Amino acid sequence: MDVTWTVERIDELTRLWDEGITTAEIGRRIGVTKNAVIGKVHRLGLVPRVVTVKPAPRRFVFEFTGPVCMWPLGHPGDEDFHFCGGHPLPGKPYCADHAALAYIRPKDAKQNAA
Ligand SMILES: [Zn+2]
Repeated sequence: MDVTWTVERIDELTRLWDEGITTAEIGRRIGVTKNAVIGKVHRLGLVPRVVTVKPAPRRFVFEFTGPVCMWPLGHPGDEDFHFCGGHPLPGKPYCADHAALAYIRPKDAKQNAA
């Protein structure tokens, strides 16, 4: 598939790439597919980013204004790795669904349900 790489798009691609935005997100922002972004990045010879897992999720954490579910979804290093972000249970770092996975205490669950 052909993508029209206008100067603006290439500028935007380069800028977003430098910011460490994922290829999927870059694609969304400039209106091309992720594969087109990847292909263009290679053709442009942009410096391969070492997508370090740690800084991104941490920054993500601090950007939240309130408590959210910190259950990781996906695998660290994957482009779509993220945290659940749901409403956590009081006193727990996870939402109801993920707290159930994190704290397997059937006894408590039964008591709470009763
Ligand atoms: Zn969750």
